Formats: sequence, structure tokens, C-alpha cells
Amino acid sequence: MATAKQILILGAGFGGLASANLLRNSLQKEVCQITVIDKNQSFMMGLVNLWILSGTRRLENSQIALNKLESKGIKFLNDEIIKIDPSENSVTTKTNRNKVHYDYLIIALGADLAPKQIEGFEDNESCFNIYNVQQVPRLREKILALKSGRIIICIANIPYKCPPAPYEVSLIINDILIKNGTRDSIDLNIYVPTPISLPVAGAKMSQDVVNLLNEKHINFHPLHKIKKVLDKKTIEFENGVKTSFDVLIIIPNHQVPQIIKNSDLLRDGNQHWINVDKFTLRTKYKNVFAIGDVTEIRLDKTTTIPKAGIFAEGQAKVVSQQIINEITDNNNNKALTKFDGKGFCFMEVGDKKAGYIYADFYNESGPTTRLDPPSYEFYQKKLDFERSRLGEWLM
Ligand SMILES: Cc1cc2nc3c(=O)[nH]c(=O)nc-3n(C[C@H](O)[C@H](O)[C@H](O)COP(=O)(O)OP(=O)(O)OC[C@H]3O[C@@H](n4cnc5c(N)ncnc54)[C@H](O)[C@@H]3O)c2cc1C
Repeated sequence: MATAKQILILGAGFGGLASANLLRNSLQKEVCQITVIDKNQSFMMGLVNLWILSGTRRLENSQIALNKLESKGIKFLNDEIIKIDPSENSVTTKTNRNKVHYDYLIIALGADLAPKQIEGFEDNESCFNIYNVQQVPRLREKILALKSGRIIICIANIPYKCPPAPYEVSLIINDILIKNGTRDSIDLNIYVPTPISLPVAGAKMSQDVVNLLNEKHINFHPLHKIKKVLDKKTIEFENGVKTSFDVLIIIPNHQVPQIIKNSDLLRDGNQHWINVDKFTLRTKYKNVFAIGDVTEIRLDKTTTIPKAGIFAEGQAKVVSQQIINEITDNNNNKALTKFDGKGFCFMEVGDKKAGYIYADFYNESGPTTRLDPPSYEFYQKKLDFERSRLGEWLM
């Protein structure tokens, strides 16, 4: 009997967990061993940050242990990956410089956050990184304690995870302030470096989003790229504007993980993320795939496939099916072996309502996007979105 193939998955986030489960559900243990490596011990969806902010969820009730993968026949290694060496088909982890060999490698390491790149941001008790879940409970307390003043939400740069999320944050904060009786005395602002709110979704949807903000008296400031936090209460932008804040919430710069920079998976110095084939998600190495936030799939000169869990999951399906077909020497589900560039998400607007965003980025006559009006039903579907994935991946 042939020896079992080794499938190694780097990262137990959206893409890694979806891949591991899809592969395990289709391939017997005798045919392949699946190993997932992650430095974290537990998984939580990024969208839960918003629920902790709104007060409908607590951090302690939201993280699920990754060693639950073991009961599904998926090996979980809780370690930090320090080297990827595709020429040797191996990956090295930090503990004892352990070398793990593979026949197939799926890189799903996501994006690293770099708040330190903003001068003056750290060590300021009025500044918060909303993408770091550890900071969200304290942010919520700070907002509830504020009686009057200015709250600023600031997108440091593009690309960043989940393009609608900063707008959801502003709408949820609006809701918190109304319920807290302080909305009339607190000015709510969002500053972005781009000319429109959602460049990746186009002018129409960007205007729809700004209309939602206008309805709630949230001030939208395009073309403001943060330069530095000047002092405890002032921020400066690259266009020379300086403005005051009582609470500053930042979506920090995103960057490719350092181990990818140290590998030869970036072809040249101008490449910031892993370039993959837009349909197969293969890297320049035939048995190495990369999916999700760690990749860049360019749509035109300025736009790329957004960094969002729904795309990481869609790409996981495509990569898994290709590996399944290769290992079983089959040509099953051919349509599932090509990424279709389609995705959706639910954009929260506060008061337990959400809009529905749909996007088709590979549409032959150009990318199309749509925002359906907020409703209670879409909010419920967002709750189901988390529940169903956790059920499939970790229960
Ligand atoms: C506030 C917020 C709201 C969001 N809302 C949505 C939404 O509504 N819908 C949606 O689709 N997406 C949403 N997203 C985006 C979504 O969370 C990400 O796009 C998605 O998690 C990307 O999946 P991934 O598999 O590429 O990476 P990740 O899920 O980030 O997983 C990467 C994993 O790699 C691990 N890792 C990294 N480096 C190493 C290393 N050296 N060694 C070991 N392990 C390592 C990390 O610990 C992590 O577990 C949201 C994100 C945020 C922050």
C-alpha cells in the first residue's frame, strides 16, 4: 500500500480550518495525514470584535480551543512557524526547531497588524486598535464613560481586513451612544486615506455606505491618511490637517507575516503579499498553495480581492478539491477546482440590523457589487454565519 500523503496547513484561521475539514471529510486517514500548525491555542472570528464592542458578546465566551481538531482526525500543532522552505518541502517550527515535511502545503497565515508603524499611537490610553480583540472590552468601557467630546475612527491604509468593518464600527458606536444617552454631545467621525469609502466595491456602493453614515450624522472625511498621533488628544494627517480626539480608534496597517518576507515566496521587492494563480491559488511551487489574507489577487491596477474570511473559505474549497482530485487520481467536481471570485458579507448598522453585501469580482463584464438594505433578518443570518462555520470546523 502507498504511504499516506502529508498535507500541511499553516494557520488555523478561516482558510486553514475550512481546508482541513474539507480535506478530512473527503480523504481517509490511510490516504493522507492532515496537520494544522498555529501559534494560537484558540480560534475566534474577527467579526466577533464587533459583538464585543456592541456588548452582545463577551470575549471569554467566544474563543474555541483548536485542539478540538484532534477529535476530527486532524493533527494540531500549537507552535510558531519560523521558516518555510519549499525547495526542501519542509517547514520549521520554533520549539526545538522541529522540521515538518509535506507533500502538499497550504499557506493560510493571514495578515499581520502593524500599529507600531503609527508614531505616538501606542502607550496612549485614549487610542485603541479595534482589530486587536484584547483592546475591545476596554474600548467599550471608555465609550460608555465618555459624556461629551469627539470619537475618531481612522483607517491607516489599504488593504485591510473586511473593508466594511470600520463603517460597521462607527454605526455600532452610534447605537451605543444613543442607548447611553450621550449621542447629542459626542461628535462621531471617520477618516480614510482613500477618495471613496469602499474603493474595492466601486463608486455606487461607496456612496450607499456614506448615505448610511449621513443618516446617522457620522462625519465621513475622505483623503485623510494618518501621519502621527501628536499628543494625548491630537492627530495629524499627511495633508496637514490636525484635529482633536477624546477617543481614537485605528484600523492599523496590515502587512504580510515576516516568515513570508524571509521566504522566496515573494518574487521581488515590490511584491507585498503572495501572488497566486487567480483560479487555482497555486504559488510558483506546484504543491504549494496560498489562500486568504496572505495573498494578493489583483483585479486591476488599484484593486485586489478583499481580505475577508468568505474569500479565504471560498479559496479553501478550491484548493482542497484540487488536492483531493490529485491524491485520488480523479477529476471530480471540476467546477469546484476554480475560484469564482464571488463572496458576501453582512454589514452591521447597529440596533441588531445588518445590510447584505454581495460581490462578483470575476464577472466577465467587470466586477459587480450590491448592498441590500439593513434588516433584522440579515443580522440573524450573520449570527448563523458564525454558528454554522464553528459547527463545521470545530465541533
Ligand atoms: C473586525 C473584523 C470584522 C470582520 N468581519 C468579517 C466578516 O463579516 N466577513 C468576513 O468574511 N470576514 C470578516 N473579517 C475578516 C476575516 O476575519 C479575515 O479576512 C479572515 O480571518 C482571513 O482568513 P485567513 O485564513 O486568511 O487568516 P486568519 O483567519 O487571520 O488566520 C491566520 C492564522 O495564522 C496564524 N499565524 C500567523 N503567523 C503564524 C506563525 N508564524 N506561526 C503560527 N501561526 C501563525 C494566526 O495565529 C492565525 O490563526 C473581519 C475581520 C475583522 C478584524
